Amino acid sequence: MSSGVERLWKNVQGYYGERIDIAAVQRDCLMAAQAHGWEAEKLKASSEVELLAFSRRASSGTQHRFRLYISAGIHGDEPAGPLAVRQLLQDNLWPTEVNIWICPCLNPAGFVKNRRENAEGLDLNRQYLDPVAPETLAHIAWLKAQPDFDLCLCLHEDWESHGFYVYELNPDNRPSLAQAIVDRVADVCPIDPSEIIEGRAAHKGIIRPNVDSQSRPQWPEAFFLLTHKTRLSYTLEAPSDFPLATRAAALVAGVRAAIVPGQEGDAQCFKTKAGS
Ligand SMILES: [Zn+2]
Repeated sequence: MSSGVERLWKNVQGYYGERIDIAAVQRDCLMAAQAHGWEAEKLKASSEVELLAFSRRASSGTQHRFRLYISAGIHGDEPAGPLAVRQLLQDNLWPTEVNIWICPCLNPAGFVKNRRENAEGLDLNRQYLDPVAPETLAHIAWLKAQPDFDLCLCLHEDWESHGFYVYELNPDNRPSLAQAIVDRVADVCPIDPSEIIEGRAAHKGIIRPNVDSQSRPQWPEAFFLLTHKTRLSYTLEAPSDFPLATRAAALVAGVRAAIVPGQEGDAQCFKTKAGS
């Protein structure tokens, strides 16, 4: 377990922690992606808002050809996600067998205001069934042009939580990555021990919600992904009431747990394709 990281106790009724210069972070992401040979697209959401989307092809001749999608920054008061993506892009430690698509920041206007919603006050993570927000429309149009994904990771924060936790959407009961994610994150950040998180049953930082996406009128991104793009999705939630560097490190560790090979050989993510 971790590491004497102390809770700050300053985020009450909202996020009051450290902020980031989102334009600079996005510039850094773009520079790192281009330096490491990624394809970079700019998705024009509106006259003011442009989203970045990166993709990287597995090297030819490799066997696995796994397809991974990562998104961050859909909530403008959750800076750890874009920082984690920047770190991952700069470190460039990806398995060669994996095709990867990354959206480093889905709500840049929200970060300018340090608030959850976009400039029009819309929570973009409730837009994915019936979208009107320009960011979501641009993002969905881009997603529809991409192939299906074997694994999706959505990077978030929660200012109320007592530690890191993860939501798993795994309707086909594929080999789970949840425990590997939590175990790796525990080295750098406390895990939320609560038995109820956000109204759902949790066990040692893992929530496996019973998803009936048809019953929920306001879809988060993960519901769109599960319905149209993937059969395995994780939403990683870093605890906003801990130092920003700790939260970013938690999200980086969570992503690495899925994709970086362990001592036993293959990366965890390839096991999720067993039998598929
Ligand atoms: Zn969020």
